[in-house]
Amino acid sequence: MANLKEEKIIGIPRAMSFYGNYPFYFGFFNDLGIKIVLSDVTTKQTMSEGAGLVVTETCLPIKVYVGHILNLIRKGVQNILVPSLQSIDTKIYNCSKIRGLPDLIRNVVKEKFNMIEATLDKSEKNQGLYEFLAECVAPFGITDKKLIKKASKAGWRCYNNFHVMTKSGMPYSKALSYALQGKVVIENNTKEYPISIALVGHGYNIYDERVCMKIVDKLEKMDVKVCTSLQLSSEQLDEGILTLGNEKYWANEDEMTGTAGHYLKDNKIDGIVTVTAFGCGPDSLMIERITRKAKQFGKPLLNLTIDEQTGEAGFVTRLEAFVDMLFRKKRANIVNNINIGEKETPQYTLNTDIIETKS
Ligand code: SF4
Repeated sequence: MANLKEEKIIGIPRAMSFYGNYPFYFGFFNDLGIKIVLSDVTTKQTMSEGAGLVVTETCLPIKVYVGHILNLIRKGVQNILVPSLQSIDTKIYNCSKIRGLPDLIRNVVKEKFNMIEATLDKSEKNQGLYEFLAECVAPFGITDKKLIKKASKAGWRCYNNFHVMTKSGMPYSKALSYALQGKVVIENNTKEYPISIALVGHGYNIYDERVCMKIVDKLEKMDVKVCTSLQLSSEQLDEGILTLGNEKYWANEDEMTGTAGHYLKDNKIDGIVTVTAFGCGPDSLMIERITRKAKQFGKPLLNLTIDEQTGEAGFVTRLEAFVDMLFRKKRANIVNNINIGEKETPQYTLNTDIIETKS
């Protein structure tokens, strides 16, 4: 087995927490002189190889993660980060699969590699972010607290730059690309869309282009503006969770109930599309609440469930039918407005304020 201290190369699977944390990892590991090797983008092979090693009921993101580990091993990467992200704040937990990721990988991947296990558990003493980062770099012989703290600042810088750009409306991959180049670019996007949709789902489900079959591109080609959790502040997400009458329990609740709760009250959003993995326990609970609340708000909702068998044709047909219904609804509203009062000027309500609706 190679000497970790000499190599200073870390493999990061392009799956699961990659979609939320990679800007931080990039700034952090680079600052410490640790080279990152990413697995290749998800392909059909990644999915089928991962699925072949776990039980059928396992959710798609975990199958994809396993496939990415195999890809890194095949690329010759020996040191692979497999974090155990237990809780991200006091009593705010991840699902059991995310929490037990190192054990799961140990049990299903038989090829030899050095698994860098690091645990983040903010509900426990001495398992906060600093301890997590120290565990990530200890195998490389880095133990100097000052160096680790300095590197974490570099990580936060890259992470914050990324979020400044996504909050300004820049798409995920473009903002990621700029952030990794150390740039912050704010673009003045004045394009107006006749229809706006809130896309609700975990980052690993909606930004992995193979997993979600390029849903963002497909919607934009249908002349639909796509809004996600990345455009929202933590205050807006918290308030969104409250809108659904929830208390935050799941770590990825922001991406689901927080986002849905916020956009349900936003009258410039014409409809909600949720993307969930088949067999996901937390999502099935959250989707139930979102569906109930969407009915109360009178907001159209489409729930797309994905697994490795999901066919693109059926996926696109459902998406097209939903968007078509939103266009027809909008046209009908405009016609109604013309009939109600001649003084009213028909217009698309793209930039109106958030309204409160009685629940
Ligand atoms: S939250 Fe759901 S989709 Fe994500 S890993 Fe857990 S079970 Fe799978």
